[in-house]
Amino acid sequence: MSAGVVYLVGAGPGDPGLVTARALDLVERADVIVYDRLVPARVLGRARPDAEVIYAGKEPGRPGIGQEEINRLLVEHARAGRTVVRLKGGDPFVFGRGGEEAEALAEAEIRFEVVPGITAGIAAPAYSGIPVTHRDEASAVAFVTAHEDPAKPESALDWRALAAFPGTLVFYMGVRTLDRVSERLIAEGRDPQEPAAVVERGTQPAQRTVSAPLRDIARRAAEAEIGAPAVTVVGKVVDLGERLGWFRDGPLQGRRVAVTRARVQASELAARLEALGAEVIEAPAIRIDSLTASPEVGAAIARLADHGYDVVCLTSPNGARLLLDSMDEAGLDSRALAGVMLAAIGPGTAAALREGGLRADLVPARSIAESLAEEVIATGVEGTRVLIARALEARDVLPDMLTAAGAEVDVVPLYETVREPLGEAAAAAIGDADYVTFTSSSTVRFFSESLGGPSNVPQSARVVSIGPITSATARELGIEVAVEATQHDIDGLVTALVSDAGAGN
Ligand code: SAH
Repeated sequence: MSAGVVYLVGAGPGDPGLVTARALDLVERADVIVYDRLVPARVLGRARPDAEVIYAGKEPGRPGIGQEEINRLLVEHARAGRTVVRLKGGDPFVFGRGGEEAEALAEAEIRFEVVPGITAGIAAPAYSGIPVTHRDEASAVAFVTAHEDPAKPESALDWRALAAFPGTLVFYMGVRTLDRVSERLIAEGRDPQEPAAVVERGTQPAQRTVSAPLRDIARRAAEAEIGAPAVTVVGKVVDLGERLGWFRDGPLQGRRVAVTRARVQASELAARLEALGAEVIEAPAIRIDSLTASPEVGAAIARLADHGYDVVCLTSPNGARLLLDSMDEAGLDSRALAGVMLAAIGPGTAAALREGGLRADLVPARSIAESLAEEVIATGVEGTRVLIARALEARDVLPDMLTAAGAEVDVVPLYETVREPLGEAAAAAIGDADYVTFTSSSTVRFFSESLGGPSNVPQSARVVSIGPITSATARELGIEVAVEATQHDIDGLVTALVSDAGAGN
């Protein structure tokens, strides 16, 4: 067996947008992920469902798994030939003990690589409008750990040198020692009036900043009940924050929202929610398996090429995309659909067609099979040849209604929706969700199955459904639906969730 590799990876300060492309790529490929407390949940959501995800964090003030034990884990898994990602908040080499882990790996002759991350000491001030250096105000910046009590005689830091440092000071880990840190700096000669700021949960939706002169900063932070994680910035640059602060609260500020749709489709919804301030828990409950290699699909494509259909009905964006893909593979393009009426169940499906250069002729006002059937029938379908390209496990309303109206109907399954097992990290995060979103009946069914039954869907979370069919499935399972979108697409779902959150729920 060839030895594995360990990647010491920085996950950034919290905003999932601040994770490097390299980090995401490695997380998606890893066999084993060993992660710390401050790693954004959404990044872990990208892990392979069969990856081993190990929590190695320490809660403040409580012993966690020891550094020796972490080093041993990394070495053992790599020796077993696995690809190991050691994921740390911020940058792995800035107060993350990444240096020690690299030493242990070098010692054990394990191959390793380092993926730098965006460190909190730069990012948290930046999200408060504080540039840590500035042409006129600060030509140097020092990153300092305030972990140890500066009052202790054995303090490793040269406080006199820090007080005299000609530039910005950024303290990590110092919430509890802030009073002593500021006293000591002043005692050693730092100006008590120098501007200072504490940034709590920087870059995250719940970010808060408290500013005050150095003399008062500890008291003001305590009054505001600032807690970890937070960095403290001391320097003239802090004053710029008043003019340059740009980070705004969104309407979903501080809300944790679980997204259960398939991983490949989750990103649009997740990004929308995050832009509104939500913290997203990616918990994909389903996966889409293509059936386009089946003989039925082959036959339908051949018939399309022969102009054998008058109407094509598409009941999901996946169906639309896979139909276009199958046509492409068969050497066809949109001209094979010339003269064919294209009926899309909703705006998302119509958008998927548009990406393929096709315009839907018909999109019903309500995105449900009954409405689609009614509108197609209204165009006069007696004797027409209809292709319904859809999921394997769909309701039969559409084919039944069209057949009853005299159409000749081919139903062709293009994909199958299967259960995606919940990753460990997602399963753990679900308990803290304020909202759980369902975008289809299959997400409801498979999500509750993955949790071991509907009764395990957290009671404290409000369930948001995209529409009546999804809601009905939830209710059949005994899951209470708190919010149902009036417009049955992602826009509608987001709007409904925002208005529920705004109503104080
Ligand atoms: N390697 C990390 C730092 C780990 S030490 C990095 O490069 O950012 C942990 C300390 O980092 C916390 O006590 C806090 O001071 C700081 N920190 C981490 N994330 C933070 C955040 N989102 N906002 C403010 N401070 C943060």
